[in-house]
Amino acid sequence: MISTRPFAHPDPSSPLACDGVSLETLAKKFGTPLYTYSAGQILHRLRLFTSAFASIPHLVCYSVKANSALAILKLLDQHGAGFDIVSGGELERILRVNKQAAERVVFSGVGKTAAEIDLALRSGILIFNVESAAELDLLAERASKLRKRARVALRVNPDVFAETHPYISTGLREHKFGIDIRQARAVYKLAAKQKYLDPCGASVHIGSQIRSADPFGAAAERVAQLIRDLRSDGLAITSVDVGGGLGIEYHSDHSFNPEEKIHQYATALLKSLRPIENLRLLLEPGRFIVAQAGALLTRVLYVKKNGEKTFVVTDAAMNDLIRPALYQAHHDIVPVMPRKGARKKVVDVVGPVCETGDFFARDRELPELKPGDLVAILDAGAYGLSLSSNYNSRPRPAEVLVEGKRARLIRRRETMDDLFAPEQI
Ligand SMILES: *Cc1c(COP(=O)(O)O)cnc(C)c1O
Repeated sequence: MISTRPFAHPDPSSPLACDGVSLETLAKKFGTPLYTYSAGQILHRLRLFTSAFASIPHLVCYSVKANSALAILKLLDQHGAGFDIVSGGELERILRVNKQAAERVVFSGVGKTAAEIDLALRSGILIFNVESAAELDLLAERASKLRKRARVALRVNPDVFAETHPYISTGLREHKFGIDIRQARAVYKLAAKQKYLDPCGASVHIGSQIRSADPFGAAAERVAQLIRDLRSDGLAITSVDVGGGLGIEYHSDHSFNPEEKIHQYATALLKSLRPIENLRLLLEPGRFIVAQAGALLTRVLYVKKNGEKTFVVTDAAMNDLIRPALYQAHHDIVPVMPRKGARKKVVDVVGPVCETGDFFARDRELPELKPGDLVAILDAGAYGLSLSSNYNSRPRPAEVLVEGKRARLIRRRETMDDLFAPEQI
């Protein structure tokens, strides 16, 4: 039985470990801040999807932007996953891992450039999720120029409200994403007239970190109706992409059962989609696969008091993990070495960056921490390093992948030379 949370104490007096590998040992060997991921947990999550959707032809296209480490992409590729990309750069990552994997790539995004479209056409990707009539025109032009027939799905905007942070909700008419579902039939008719376009799919993605299955069910119902309408218009729609967005529970004191979550999600989607014959389902999960497989390890530099407040200053900062600053996101923070009889204290955990938004936790009750202590910021496997920056001229952290009992470096810590490389004086 694989645990939902790969980061645990093997026994109460030993250091926190990732699948049994001591995090203190990893931090000593590779330094901090350090991202650590469990390969076992990533594959476990992939398998949860494939088994929940076993009753329908499907392909899990992992959303690369959640965590685009080449080693993680390779791991998923070797286990049959496809990929959801949103840029030419993400396609280059897939090609670097396995050129053949291009045939399992779906390309989403509202701002695809001609160069990105050309690369995708030449690589022979599975399907383009087109987000506007203007993009459809450009795709038709590039495809006929290159004499490559492009499989196309329109990403429709189903006007479904999903309870999540406003920055990561995408399925309402007021959002920049997709084509209004009421206009979709007309745009499909334009696509059908183009010799080098094959409008064979429909797609939808309503947002991220959505914890209820209901909005997914509502979106699927609307897309199912669209597919029936398109088929009655004479289009051979053979695939439906339901996007990603399934949320996790970031508070470890709340119960969370990923099996059950995916089961509810599958039930909500399949209710309206399984009755449609000859339909292949594409899924684009990102966060659900990698978030809980990763943690960010950081050392306490200082503990300081300002008036009533106590600040624990760590060597990781918002440039390494921006989710708390950007989305007011919660991450559990746990000391790696439990200290016997440590008192609890209410503290802010902050980084060294010159921004008040540079925090990992505010007014959080934690066991007392001291300089030199190692802490793990949990559930940091998704939108962690992939959203990182070099703000304050801080080199990005290293990344380690734990495979069974072994840990290996999958990205070395950046050096100042890496940072200066593109610059000229
Ligand atoms: C970001 C994104 C995803 C993945 O979202 P998660 O919340 O990480 O599952 C899937 N599809 C598209 C089009 C996206 O933009």
